[in-house]
Amino acid sequence: MSKKIGFIGLGIMGQGMATNLIRAGFDVTLYNRTMSRAEELAAEGASVANTPAEAAQGADVVITMLADPPAIHEVILGPDGVVEGLKQGAVLVDCTTVDPATTAETLKAVTAKGAAFVDSPVTGSKEGATNGELVLLAGGDAAIIDGIRDVLCTFSKKIIHAGPVGSGTALKLSFNLMVSHMIVALSESMVLGVSAGLKPEVILEAIMAGTIQSPYYEWKGGAIMDRDFTTNFSTKLMHKDLTMMMSAGYDLNVPLPITAAVKELFAMSKAQGNNDEDFCSVVKVLEDMANVEVKKT
Ligand code: NAP
Repeated sequence: MSKKIGFIGLGIMGQGMATNLIRAGFDVTLYNRTMSRAEELAAEGASVANTPAEAAQGADVVITMLADPPAIHEVILGPDGVVEGLKQGAVLVDCTTVDPATTAETLKAVTAKGAAFVDSPVTGSKEGATNGELVLLAGGDAAIIDGIRDVLCTFSKKIIHAGPVGSGTALKLSFNLMVSHMIVALSESMVLGVSAGLKPEVILEAIMAGTIQSPYYEWKGGAIMDRDFTTNFSTKLMHKDLTMMMSAGYDLNVPLPITAAVKELFAMSKAQGNNDEDFCSVVKVLEDMANVEVKKT
């Protein structure tokens, strides 16, 4: 019998993920705070719930893709939240990038309902969600994850089993640390080169010609040169992740000196008004300080 799915959180990532689930033929009930987004997607062949609890009721698997820890407290743990609706034996998969404390709180609440929990943040951005090619960083019982592979594979090309619950969250923060440093390294490199009179195309050509080449640099370097800051991953969400990395560093007694500086660059970017733009717009902070613009000529 086909599994019944509750899907909650239809932002940039959730829309693509839910669409893939529906198109794979699962019986999906959607919930989103801004109802119109759920109603639009329901036309693909899904039901719409009025509350997160209602979306979870009777579901075998509930997937959440929300913004941040406050959203988890409201939508999963709060009144009329997912936990209220979870049936015994169901599995909740939280794909949101959150902090370890929020993941631990969710595990406790879900376990108390006799359900299972998997923390599974993702990598792959909007395109990966749309094309069903995300990479899942899953923490939880291996047998539980195996049992819902048919569901998870509708929006992912790979599931990395990181370890027990909490490991997905830890892996995602380590991973996004790299992502945040890479965008700042790319931006600073381009600002320096352009200030010296180089064309940004030439700087990117050199980066892509040798051992440091990366599809990520090609993608984001191209967007910066084209001044295309259309949001795939927002500045405010990267700042949220950096704040959680610093907090994890504090808890684990791990100094993160470069990450501290990167985090403040994103704070400056937010203060500059780039909150909802793609996080590569952090280049504008560095450009302002150097009085230069990285633009294709
Ligand atoms: P997004 O577009 O901002 O969507 C956020 C979703 O959370 C929306 O459905 C929003 O509802 C809901 N939400 C936010 N605050 C809420 C609250 N207090 N109560 C109820 N619902 C709330 O974010 P996204 O880009 O899809 O990212 C989702 C998660 O995946 C984040 O944790 C992000 O860090 C992570 N992630 C993102 C990417 C990426 O490239 N975008 C890649 C990997 C991981 P409304 O529609 O009502 O606003």
